[in-house]
Parts: sequence; C-alpha cells; structure tokens
Amino acid sequence: MKVADIRRTFLKFYESKGHTIVHSSPVVPGNDPTLLFTNAGMNQFKDVFLGFDKRPYTRATTSQKCIRAGGKHNDLDNVGYTARHHTFFEMLGNFSFGDYFKHDAIHFAWELLTKHFMLPAEKLWVTVYAEDDEAYDIWNKEVGVPAERIVRIGDNKGARYMSDNFWMMGDTGPCGPCSEIFYDHGDSVQGGPPGSPDEDGDRYIEIWNLVFMQFYRDEKGVMHKLPKPSIDTGMGLERIAAVLQGVHNNYDIDLFKNLLAAAKAAVESVSVGEVDATSPSLKVIADHIRACAFSVADGIVPGNEGRAYVLRRICRRAIRHGYKLGARAPFFYKLVDAVVAEMGEAYPELKNPKIAAVLEDEERRFFATITKGMELLEDAIAKCTNGCLDGEILFKLHDTYGFPADLTGDVCRERGLTIDTEGFDRAMERQRAAARASAKFKMAAGLEYSGADTVFTGYDTLVETGAKVIGLYRD
Ligand code: ATP
Ligand code: MG
Ligand code: MG
Ligand code: MG
Repeated sequence: MKVADIRRTFLKFYESKGHTIVHSSPVVPGNDPTLLFTNAGMNQFKDVFLGFDKRPYTRATTSQKCIRAGGKHNDLDNVGYTARHHTFFEMLGNFSFGDYFKHDAIHFAWELLTKHFMLPAEKLWVTVYAEDDEAYDIWNKEVGVPAERIVRIGDNKGARYMSDNFWMMGDTGPCGPCSEIFYDHGDSVQGGPPGSPDEDGDRYIEIWNLVFMQFYRDEKGVMHKLPKPSIDTGMGLERIAAVLQGVHNNYDIDLFKNLLAAAKAAVESVSVGEVDATSPSLKVIADHIRACAFSVADGIVPGNEGRAYVLRRICRRAIRHGYKLGARAPFFYKLVDAVVAEMGEAYPELKNPKIAAVLEDEERRFFATITKGMELLEDAIAKCTNGCLDGEILFKLHDTYGFPADLTGDVCRERGLTIDTEGFDRAMERQRAAARASAKFKMAAGLEYSGADTVFTGYDTLVETGAKVIGLYRD
C-alpha cells in the first residue's frame, strides 16, 4: 500500500463508522498564540472539545499536517537519528466530540489494524495509563490482547523518553489519559518494549495514540473537567506506512525513497563528485524540505522571530547538511518539485511558485556566509579542548554568519561536542543591552525615534510586536 492509499483507507474506514472527513488545517494554527505550529490532529478541534465551538457533526476524521520543531513537542534533534521522527509529518486521526468514548475508540482502532491493514495481532503491544482499569479490561477481555503485551504506564517517573500515557497538547489545553499501540519490528532491531528501561530504541515503535480527552489544563496547571468525555487519536502516517510496506525505517517508505533520490540529485547538481546515498544528511534534507515547503505554503517566510525563525532554522540546518555533502550553491529549493510530485494531489496548496522562490532567496542569503562561518567553526572545533564549544563563538557565528545556535549545535553533536548555550545567552543579552543604550542615546540626541521594543528575546519568551503576540517560541 502506498502512502496515498493508506491515507484514503483510514479516512474511508472512519467515514464508514459515521465520521465526517474534515480537511487538514494549516500548519500555522489560527488564533492560538499558545502554539507555534500545529502539532496534532486535535488542534483544529480544541474549541469543540472545550464546548466553545459547535460543529454539525460529533464524529470527525482527518489527515493533519503537523510540525514538531518547537514548543512542547519538538523533534528537530531526533531527525536523522531515529527511524521514526520527522519535523513535518501527517497525523491520521479520529475524533469524538462527546459521542463515543473508550470502548468504541479501542474497537475501531483494532478493527482497522487487524482486519483492514491485516496486521498480525501478536506484533501489536498496547499501553494504558496506570490506573485506567477500564481501558485495560477493554483491551484484555473484549479485544483479547494477552496480559504480556499490555503495559500499564504511570506519570513519567524520570524515564528517558516521556512515555507517561497522559497526553497534553501543550502547557495548557485539552488533555487526558491515553492508550498507545506499538508495533514490534522484530529482534533484528535494538530496543525494549514500552515502559522498559531500553524503550527508546527503535524496535517497538509507537504507531497510534488514543487519547481519552477528559480535562482542560489551565495556565495555573489546574485540571477542569471537559463538558463531555471525548476521543482524540493520532497515528503517524509515515510510521504506519513503514509497517505496511514491510520496512523498519520511515525513510524507506515510497514517499521518502523518492524524496531521498531527489535530494541526492539536487545536491549533486551543485557539488563536485557523487553523494553517498546512505548519508544521514540526505534524510535530514528530505525531512526538512517538507517542513519548509508546507510552512511557506501556509504563509510563513523565514525571518528572525517566532515561527519565521523556526522556519529559518529548519532551512539553514538542511542547507548546512547539503554543504556537508559538497553543495556550494543553492540546491534545497529545487526539491519543492519533488514534494509537489509526492504530495501535491492531497495538498494542492503546495502548487504555488512562491514556495521555491522564498526558499531560494533564503538559501542565497545563507550561501553568502556559510563558507566563512564553517571555516570559523572548524577552526574553533579544532582548538576546542574541553568538549564544549564556547558561547562567544556560538554568538559570533549567529551574529555575523547567520548560524542559528542549534545549527552550530548540530555540527558540534556530529563531532561529539556540546555547546555553551548559557555563554551564548549572556552574549546575546550583552548585545541587547548595548542596542537599548544606543537607542536611548539616539533618542536623547534627537537622532531617531524608537517606538517598539522588538529585539530578539531568546528561546523562552513570548515574542511581541507592540501588543500583538506573534508566537510562543520555546524549545
Ligand atoms: P514518540 O514517543 O515516538 O516521540 P509521541 O508520543 O510524541 O511519539 P504523540 O504525541 O502521541 O507522539 O502523537 C501521536 C502519533 O503521531 C504517534 O503515535 C506517532 O505515530 C506520530 N508521531 C509523533 N511524533 C512524530 C514525529 N516527529 N514524526 C512522525 N510521526 C510522529
Ligand atoms: Mg515524541
Ligand atoms: Mg510516545
Ligand atoms: Mg504518544
């Protein structure tokens, strides 16, 4: 089954169960300053869960464009390192707004996986929230999943990766206990079952999360009951595609095979020599072009604040990986055509010539400084003796050569070095103070009027332009 067939089968299955097929919302959440990017299928239904918005249906199904590159769910650093994480991915989901609850949600999911997708039951593991006996019993007594493959998981007790089985959209918003379905890719892959100490390997891959939406978490962390218990589920399309296509790694599915080939060709068109087809850098590029193309399609342009800066960081990381493979001129924008070929039918907004033009412009800017910046960085890495790249260097690369700190961090990680983010923040603060002092001086001298405080405010703050909040920038 190709990606497009899997998407269609999912939506049609839920349509046959009385769900209305709803189109994906943009990757830029409308009207929600608590979110940088759409990070789950439920985002567009947030107000429906809360009871503020009414729809003509109580059951919906979607394939939602998601980006997890900032905020509570941030997978940027996982890309290229795990078999299952992307910055941009599609989340298949079914939703009940005060209609069915745990029983049907679990039975529907099982029917789809075992009867339509024909997955062998013995390859599937499930987790439930520790105290959720109701979900446990549905899985065990009704569906027939044996106790050995059902894992109870409590609040995250310092586990390395958050398998806490309590899903939250962000620090505030609808939330609830959940039950997850994992697929066992077999003992040729490293990793333990969910809940075990080595669960963050890639053998048991989480494919689907069924969230039993019951609460709203407010700014103070207080939980309020939702008007009616509801259902929100999310299954990664690329992950289920890997399972159904008999491959372990998401990058081996049809869609990514084509994007990887296009990435290789695009880099080779501007570099001397051949590119190693197995390089992880190609995966990063193939991943990032989707995040960038969809972001621009939904109206973001690379810039220095909020979402625009996240987009710039993703673009430049991809460009740097191309540079590492030998590219010395713009190549990244050329991949937009390949994304359109793979996804343009499902997402016609991709067929917009502006996307390649915006990305090419960003690429030209970065290619103007990347060589000098990389020389400086290579020199600093060679001289680094304590395993941690100095904050002043990070700052200089950022300020003079347009290297976002996380991009420099990505290079350093490849070399086994960490980065001094505190030193970077101090240098940033020093520059901000100098800018403020200079603005004051100019104002006092009548040279300039400075109306707004729009200096870059770092990674943890609400970035404001006048009174309008334009993005929560945290990671
Ligand atoms: P993981 O533990 O693997 O990081 P998650 O628990 O953070 O996943 P959820 O928030 O439960 O993921 O999202 C629902 C589903 O979306 C997941 O079960 C998975 O199939 C898919 N998914 C989540 N993050 C990604 C990603 N970065 N890339 C691709 N698919 C993803
Ligand atoms: Mg995650
Ligand atoms: Mg998880
Ligand atoms: Mg999950």
